[in-house]
Amino acid sequence: MIPKVVVIGAGVYGAAVTASLTRRGASVVLVDAGAPAGGTSGSTFSWTNSSTKHPRSYHDLGVAGMEAHRRLAARVPGSDWYHEGGNLQWADDDDERARLRRKVGGVLDYGYEARWLSRAEVLRLEPDIAPGELPADGIAYFPREGWIEPARLIGYLLSSAVSRGAELVAGDAVIGMVTTAATVRAVRLASGRQLSADAVVNCAGPRAGAIAGLAGLALPMRNTRGVLVHTSPVAVSVSRVVHAPRVHLRPDGGGRLLLHTHEIDGAVRVSGAGEISVDPSAVETILAAGRALYPGTRAATVESIRVGERPIPGDGLPVLGRVVELPNFHFAVSHSGATLSVHAGDLVAAEVLGEDRDDALAAFRFERFRPASRQGEQR
Ligand SMILES: Cc1cc2nc3c(=O)[nH]c(=O)nc-3n(C[C@H](O)[C@H](O)[C@H](O)COP(=O)(O)OP(=O)(O)OC[C@H]3O[C@@H](n4cnc5c(N)ncnc54)[C@H](O)[C@@H]3O)c2cc1C
Repeated sequence: MIPKVVVIGAGVYGAAVTASLTRRGASVVLVDAGAPAGGTSGSTFSWTNSSTKHPRSYHDLGVAGMEAHRRLAARVPGSDWYHEGGNLQWADDDDERARLRRKVGGVLDYGYEARWLSRAEVLRLEPDIAPGELPADGIAYFPREGWIEPARLIGYLLSSAVSRGAELVAGDAVIGMVTTAATVRAVRLASGRQLSADAVVNCAGPRAGAIAGLAGLALPMRNTRGVLVHTSPVAVSVSRVVHAPRVHLRPDGGGRLLLHTHEIDGAVRVSGAGEISVDPSAVETILAAGRALYPGTRAATVESIRVGERPIPGDGLPVLGRVVELPNFHFAVSHSGATLSVHAGDLVAAEVLGEDRDDALAAFRFERFRPASRQGEQR
């Protein structure tokens, strides 16, 4: 019998899970309340990295995620959504320098590629940086990091899944689940349609807690908002991810740059009516920092500002795989989904179809959120 799987959410996770499930022979309906890539995956910095991930199990998942992107890009002609340009990072105060030294030391201990560069070496990689913005040395370089273009990756994954028979339902929200005897039987949509299911995968990103709730499961989330500033096209050479003290940036296609800092995330305003805006002075500050770093961007203007919501499970770690008390309900939810989703989505899809990979998913199970006294109880 061909298993019928309903995947909820068409971001990077839903697309990766759906592509893997269809490749493995399942019949899949992928449902999204809006348009594919219209959620967080359309508003992300999408830096592929594992230099920020702890504990070791999370770091290893990130490394495997980077490797999965590399393999996919090598296999698919025209896969230029993947850019392994490397990442530069430096600091300009003692605390941050010490933090960076600890970070580099930590990942080197894990066997991750990282090295220290001098100003002259960085200027050979990024010749358009203003030399005065760089310290003489102590610039960290992570050569295997890079970034993806999520919408283009999602487009590829969905088209390969649809060509293998997957159905994509857009603009129809999941509003309920039919569950009996610890099994999800069907998923109910706002349109009134009901999708019968042998298995369900929750890839709803920041709304994963609400979808879990429809299945009677409590998934704590502590989502945060982040601001991305997209510039107009500029004729300047930027080839990699750059984490400078006052601006983080990367190329964004067609000569545009994508700018971010942790400070600008604090400039999001939500009105009483729920309208989201960003303090214009924070946007001006980040643009000025970009211009100081790359003087060739002097004429850059802001083309768009996007506010994304990071899907962050309660303890910050991914939630992946089957739920013990509802064994045909699965999670594929995390922050860092741009890095992790192709690999983690494949692990989750394999488990949906009975190829369990306990070792790979053990640290990321939903059950860690359940009080010890309830673990093992049946609903
Ligand atoms: C500012 C910012 C910077 C980031 N930087 C990085 C980074 O540098 N590197 C990195 O790896 N990650 C980064 N991330 C995180 C990464 O972008 C996310 O982890 C990833 O995009 C999540 O993908 P997803 O598929 O889980 O969620 P989404 O892309 O949000 O997809 C979920 C989908 O579910 C749908 N949905 C929700 N509710 C329902 C419903 N009831 N019925 C049907 N559909 C529903 C939504 O419409 C949406 O399309 C960043 C995020 C932000 C916000």
